[in-house]
Amino acid sequence: MKNITVIGAGTMGNGIAHVFAQNNFNVNLVDISQPALDKALETIGKNLDRMIARESISEEDKTQTLNQIKTYTSMEEGIQNADLIVEAATENLNLKLKIFSELDQKAPESAILATNTSSISITQIAAETKRPDKVIGMHFMNPVPIMKLVEVIRGYNTSDEVMEKIMEMSKTLGKVPVEVNDYPGFIANRILMPMINEAIYSLYEGVAGVEEIDTVMKLGMAHPMGPLQLADFIGLDVCLSILNVLYDGFKNPKYAPCPLLVNMVMAGKKGVKSGEGFYDYSESKKAEKVAAQFT
Ligand code: NAD
Repeated sequence: MKNITVIGAGTMGNGIAHVFAQNNFNVNLVDISQPALDKALETIGKNLDRMIARESISEEDKTQTLNQIKTYTSMEEGIQNADLIVEAATENLNLKLKIFSELDQKAPESAILATNTSSISITQIAAETKRPDKVIGMHFMNPVPIMKLVEVIRGYNTSDEVMEKIMEMSKTLGKVPVEVNDYPGFIANRILMPMINEAIYSLYEGVAGVEEIDTVMKLGMAHPMGPLQLADFIGLDVCLSILNVLYDGFKNPKYAPCPLLVNMVMAGKKGVKSGEGFYDYSESKKAEKVAAQFT
């Protein structure tokens, strides 16, 4: 596999494109929005500059990496000759079903179709195609160039051959792949989201304040970041939608999203991206400080 197409150039898509390009794959980056593509290239350039400053890569490596990436607003053009397609578009079931149906019709027959979804069923996405054996979850973590883990999710019909290829490919990218089966939230979010939800319940019930909850988890459990700050970073809307997937998937009240989280999302407080969540990021400096912890 040499030719990789990444669908969606947002937070995750630009990181995924960066990592494939840095490892000498030919990358076609596709987004419906030209500004998103422009911003993605700018972000990749900035992240490469940081790596140059840390002396982990050279100026030539940066040029080489950027040269490996071509951008497209037409999916049909961007998937010609693709060996592997990694979809990282907005987390929305109907959108993903539509994208996979189109990919199945227009991508080369041999292409593996992977999704970076945080929580949507791989089996359901695969059922939209005539090649469910070639559909798989490739769940990178944010920020992709830094985080080592890739959760590789086996859908009900994913073949052993495709599983092995994606495990190997993840290692080629310098990542550590972990194989998991396709159940709501997979492993990462099935464990992380109830912890974040419990932290929000603790705040909602007045057990402790925001800083106090985060300090307990940072200093007491050696977490690099408290659960409320992490929720702000992930996006409170994203946390809510993943909790809803867990709640709907298991029909178990233990996954019910805290009413405070629901209220905050309805009020437009989505965390770092909206300027306010459990913390205030209204001054750009504060947001930059939080973002800097991850880059
Ligand atoms: P994002 O909102 O930052 O980016 C999504 C991009 O998809 C946007 O640029 C949008 O223009 C584009 N898009 C929408 N419809 C499209 C289409 N039909 N074709 C091509 N592009 C389209 O979202 P994100 O945070 O990068 O998340 C992308 C995926 O990665 C989601 O499935 C999400 O659950 C998953 N994920 C996110 C994180 C995270 O921390 N943000 C972590 C792991 C996985």
